[in-house]
Amino acid sequence: MSASLEQKISRTSSVDEKQDNILIKSKIQKLIQSKDNNNLYQLLKKNKKSRTSYKQLKYEGIIYKIGQNLCIKADRRIDYVAKLLKIVKLVDNDDEVYPLIKVQWYYRKFELENIPKPYMDYISENEVFKTNEYDYIEIESIVSLASILTYEEFDQLETMNDTTYFMRAAYINRTFQPPIEEWATTCICQKPPNPDLKYIQCEACQGWCHLICLNLSKEKAKKILNFICPKCQQ
Ligand SMILES: [Zn+2]
Ligand SMILES: [Zn+2]
Repeated sequence: MSASLEQKISRTSSVDEKQDNILIKSKIQKLIQSKDNNNLYQLLKKNKKSRTSYKQLKYEGIIYKIGQNLCIKADRRIDYVAKLLKIVKLVDNDDEVYPLIKVQWYYRKFELENIPKPYMDYISENEVFKTNEYDYIEIESIVSLASILTYEEFDQLETMNDTTYFMRAAYINRTFQPPIEEWATTCICQKPPNPDLKYIQCEACQGWCHLICLNLSKEKAKKILNFICPKCQQ
């Protein structure tokens, strides 16, 4: 091969490379603009400099570890909840870095769709449902750690904050598991308990009854010292 031809080939390939790079760069910009982090991950994960095996990250002075639950910024007043599954640092050919996290979503009451109204009344604002839905999202969307308790643990809490949730069912393929009909029930009405509603506890069986089912006002209920539920009175 003559020297001039060799030069020509190498020049052509570097022009192609530059062209490719510009194309990839504009693709990246589009993905970032449309917040399509899942495809950004697919595009850059194979880049030699990208790393996908971090165990923890530090954001705004707080360390977050794989497996922990997070409150995630939503475009509304209340947060989303998700489990941190993966921490990745994606790098493009210009060494620009795109840090992302992979999360598994827990649905909250406001995210549920097509649930009959009576069922919605059983569900608490502090309740979450593990889903089989996953996304790559920006680290900047982390608000704080979240703790997810069992219903029994949540029921025993004396103080609450807005990063504490409970879970008694999953929401897989947008269906409750176990189905609502199988959730534990309480009160004489035999409905699943919702901690957002007002209850009174029976001194005999420790079960909870809705004030509304007993026809009791909040004020009247406060004055009852030893409440015995209708079932235990029989
Ligand atoms: Zn009731
Ligand atoms: Zn009782």
